[in-house]
Amino acid sequence: MQFENTLVFAQQMDAKDPLRSYRDEFHFPKVKGKEVIYFTGNSLGLQPKRTQKFVDSVMTDWKELAVEGHFQGEKPWWDYHERLAAPLARVVGAKTREVTVMNTLTVNLHLLMVSFYRPTQKRYKIICEEKAFPSDQYMLQSQLRFHGLDPKEALIEIKKREGEHFWRTEDILAKIEEVGDALALVLIGGVNYYNGQVLAMESITKAGKSAGAVVGWDLAHAAGNVHLDLHKWDVDFASWCSYKYMNSGPGNASGVFINERHLNNKDLPRFEGWWGTKKETRFLMKPEFEPMDSADAWQISNVPVLSVAPYLASLELFDEVGMEALIAKRKILTAYLEFVLHAIDAEVDSSFEIITPEERGCQLSVFLHGEGRALFDYLMENGVITDWREPNVIRLAPAPFYCSFEDMYRFGQILKQGILGD
Ligand SMILES: *Cc1c(COP(=O)(O)O)cnc(C)c1O
Repeated sequence: MQFENTLVFAQQMDAKDPLRSYRDEFHFPKVKGKEVIYFTGNSLGLQPKRTQKFVDSVMTDWKELAVEGHFQGEKPWWDYHERLAAPLARVVGAKTREVTVMNTLTVNLHLLMVSFYRPTQKRYKIICEEKAFPSDQYMLQSQLRFHGLDPKEALIEIKKREGEHFWRTEDILAKIEEVGDALALVLIGGVNYYNGQVLAMESITKAGKSAGAVVGWDLAHAAGNVHLDLHKWDVDFASWCSYKYMNSGPGNASGVFINERHLNNKDLPRFEGWWGTKKETRFLMKPEFEPMDSADAWQISNVPVLSVAPYLASLELFDEVGMEALIAKRKILTAYLEFVLHAIDAEVDSSFEIITPEERGCQLSVFLHGEGRALFDYLMENGVITDWREPNVIRLAPAPFYCSFEDMYRFGQILKQGILGD
């Protein structure tokens, strides 16, 4: 498609956008009385307007039913999380019973490591990406130390090549093969938080499994953003947070995928609690643990309903729109943003280097050569919400649910003014 860096063109694109009405489903913060241009849906998605109603309904049940709310009311609390499994399974390409919602992401990765990282004398190494999200690094290092292993020796980080900003799939596959018999686990971020790269999840999973390892994915930046087919790819486990592209609110409950193959494996260790036992007999308060026949067996505590309610509201939106339509808009919107960046680049002295490779989702990470923190401050003061990573990278994520083509055009104009001066 032939793009143009004009307001008229951007507005025409919006008029043709089948998802345009969804912008109005979200609350936008305001700066100087104007709705912001929001590029940080990769960090905290905007609040859907319908979320309030879901939360209020829990508050009302609590007020009016108190403890009876566990079993009465429109959405009883005791199995509230089960309502999320089917729509969430559609987002990540799983069977309903392979998905559950619980805890938060790093906590879930720790719990999943209990089941899926079982080091032996020979097979104990973990492969991850270099400079993984800090929480994942701390999680992996502490897990290794917990098992009496030295992270320096047991944690293998896949490097980018000298002078390159992205990982090459062939390098990852070669490393998996090289570690071979010593490889216990591959655990990588499916979409990298820094450069926005989408990793070749299917082929990496396949390679990890042929090496005899377990393969898990951290999908924090992938869920609700890119195509996922976890069951078909034969991924062992995965987890993601719900507050980035999934718009469920700060620090909110996390999603978990556990391949159906593992669900009834009695040899798999697991940390257990009463919400993982069979519903039918849970309240008989028996000493024996009888696992649910689904990923729910990994549930430990009773459901944090007030934090799961916003996730359910958000999933209703995902179900209405579908990942396919979201991905179609995301591709063209991100391409338009890229075009606008190049167009502005040609008009100013600075130069923008997009370090996100072709294999990308929503996010473009941009080096602003010749510019500094003052430009970022200018953007924020003028209603462009983005984030800054040293030395001078901004991450722009035009979430397709609520960002418009006009936003991209207007961003370009503000960027230009910030460089040239008003
Ligand atoms: C956002 C993010 C996290 C956050 O973890 P929490 O436990 O939800 O605080 C972890 N890992 C990655 C890769 C992330 O992008």
